[in-house]
Amino acid sequence: MAPLTTMAPKKKIAVMTSGGDSPGMNAVVRAVVRTAIHMGCDAFCVYEGYQGLVTGDIRKTDWNDVRGYLSEGGTLIGTARCMEFYERPGRRLAAKNMILKGIDALAICGGDGSLTGADKFRAEWPSLVDELVSGGELTEQQVAPYRHLNIVGLVGSIDNDLSGTDNTIGAASALSRICEMVDYIEATASSHQRAFVIEVMGRHCGYLALMAGVATGSDFIFIPEKPRDDNWREDMVKIVKKHRELGKRKTIVIIAEGAKDRHGEKITSSMVVDLLKDPKGLKLDTRATILGHVQRGGPAVAQDRILATLQGVEAVKTLLEATPESETCFIAITENKIVRKPLMAAVKATQEVAKAIEAQDFSRAMALRDTEFAEMYNCYSLTTTVGQDENTKLPANKRMRIGFINVGAPAGGMNAAIRAGVAYCLNRGHEPLAIYNGFAGYVRHHDDSPYKSVRPFNWVDVDDWGRKGGSEIGTNRELPEETGMDLIAACIKKDKFDALFLVGGFEAFHAISQLRKARAKYPELRIPFTLLPATISNNVPGSEYSLGSDTCLNELVEFCDKIKQSASATRRRVFVIETQGGRSGYIATLASLGVGASAVYIPEEGISLGMITSDIEHLKEVFRNDNGQSRAGRLILVNEKADKLLTAKLIADLIRHEAEERFEARDSIPGHVQQGGVPSPLDRHRAVRLAIRCIQHLEQFGPFSEASASDSPLSASVIGIMGAAVVFSPMETLEEKDTDWKNRRPLAAHWRDMKDTADILGGRPPYEKPH
Ligand code: ATP
Repeated sequence: MAPLTTMAPKKKIAVMTSGGDSPGMNAVVRAVVRTAIHMGCDAFCVYEGYQGLVTGDIRKTDWNDVRGYLSEGGTLIGTARCMEFYERPGRRLAAKNMILKGIDALAICGGDGSLTGADKFRAEWPSLVDELVSGGELTEQQVAPYRHLNIVGLVGSIDNDLSGTDNTIGAASALSRICEMVDYIEATASSHQRAFVIEVMGRHCGYLALMAGVATGSDFIFIPEKPRDDNWREDMVKIVKKHRELGKRKTIVIIAEGAKDRHGEKITSSMVVDLLKDPKGLKLDTRATILGHVQRGGPAVAQDRILATLQGVEAVKTLLEATPESETCFIAITENKIVRKPLMAAVKATQEVAKAIEAQDFSRAMALRDTEFAEMYNCYSLTTTVGQDENTKLPANKRMRIGFINVGAPAGGMNAAIRAGVAYCLNRGHEPLAIYNGFAGYVRHHDDSPYKSVRPFNWVDVDDWGRKGGSEIGTNRELPEETGMDLIAACIKKDKFDALFLVGGFEAFHAISQLRKARAKYPELRIPFTLLPATISNNVPGSEYSLGSDTCLNELVEFCDKIKQSASATRRRVFVIETQGGRSGYIATLASLGVGASAVYIPEEGISLGMITSDIEHLKEVFRNDNGQSRAGRLILVNEKADKLLTAKLIADLIRHEAEERFEARDSIPGHVQQGGVPSPLDRHRAVRLAIRCIQHLEQFGPFSEASASDSPLSASVIGIMGAAVVFSPMETLEEKDTDWKNRRPLAAHWRDMKDTADILGGRPPYEKPH
């Protein structure tokens, strides 16, 4: 995202939320209001969705009116289903109210219905204005500046049902709640060896059911886009039976509320319960849980807050850049990239999915969803029906012995990645082997039983790893050269590994670099290695995203919300919070976007006394102007390595000193909490998807073949999400061109513009370093 400028012409920009509420809508409102004000415009909120346009409930909104919005669930400006807006007279009234309030641009956050209404409104606008004049309701003079209306859409929906965007605002929070509930249910199911059928939202869209199935490793799912075959009963019974035979103590079935069979007949949770209970069949003690509205409620997770904020900023930029000729856009996200897309094409494609399901054209329904959807369905199948289909296996001469190893500090999603990689290997006939405790553990306990460092995976144990934090196979920071390259090469030779799959952080990246360089000397190392980045610091070159960083952001955001509440309860208090992240300011910056910090200090910029002075002056002003009504306290985030001397404690002391008792300052260090407990759904489902891609990538090089591995630069690679794509980058290029070895981070930080956004929306005054 390009940095914001303040060159825009003054406009009156309104924001509204419409349709079903979703977590993150408040973050949209805050971002639109503050960005509009920052760009020199006036900001307005339309209350109660389209109802507010029809009744004229459009209120000017100031910077401070949206304080504390980030941590609130639902939508604070209200939403409603508005019947009048479906009719032209209702829309004419809405147009009149907007003109009377002087609104010339509108950002609408809602589902496909709301966005359809928005596009219709914009298309009709000129004729509505003509009618207002010809009907004598407004004069030619009054309407002259409003002949054209700019509209932009933001997709707020927990269902993630809009085509053209990978994610809608609110879906991550809903998924997070679902996975949390499934994890809880699993514990009791396993204790009693019960089966549970869990119904989740999604009338036309199986996103939540599918992703929850992938993230929790449920035994069976039902989604509207991909109804099961006619013999789904036999299929389900077969799979559940097989899982129980393998030793599973519990059975979890996830069903979307819109699940149907191939003939359009509804499949209900009670039908599935009956089947699992069947005294002549599985005879399982089975319960049903319908999650209902808990899926919608509660505060937004970090991912939704950040997505909503970045999209809110982009929405204002879109409105300011629009001309009468430009097509109405909505703001989408593709992988990691915020993009503008034509609104109506996306709404049409979304409606086509519903039509295709209605017409029982399911392959079309799947095709109309994003490619990720089909890929995730495939991932689900590959990781739940392990080793049951001989047809998925490769011919014997193509099967590989693959070593799985964790290197670096633990991060959420490491275990989910290992689990998925193992499942994929078993389905393809490969032999996956766990290497325990990194390279140091590998060599140290290579031969001495009972601590053998290389062991085959036991699928029943591994199947449960998706929701586990930390590293089940153990991880270690030691690099191969420290352990001894000749020892490692000898072990690899003995183990006859055809490939290594590494999951870890910067140390794992460094390890691959060392292994690659050592290939010249050790022929045993001429096997393919690939790295799936997993570190809360998100500092691995070759990827804009590392497993664990989302879990960490959730922990930080939750921690900061609580601290912020305490800070606001005592009114005049600033908390200075130290974040981890090594020499990468990524998590400090993104957490700052997610909690609305007043300032963030990162290693990439360093800290100077001038900076601190400027921030203290700003805080003084904020507290001077605070009438005591504000909703939230103030936070400053400091990365642990932003400066050697200026620590969180010292910064808090300096603030306290300068505040002259007008306000308080305290420091707080969440520490290792940031490595997270249960991994977030995003970390889990990305772990599954990327791990499978990694093993598929390794397959390209075939079983042990010195030539094939050492010939191709991609035989030592890193998988990454880069902008809108998932790519493998050759280690050779990354280590030479993209790595800041001294600071252990990529040379270019893709998130640097987000720091500007965090500063702007946090109200931080710009600080110019003196020359
Ligand atoms: P959700 O995905 O949560 O259902 P939604 O935005 O699709 O959200 P809807 O109830 O379909 O929710 O739409 C919200 C409001 O948008 C409606 O109450 C109506 O005021 C307006 N709206 C929806 N569709 C249209 C349309 N075709 N023409 C005009 N207005 C519409």
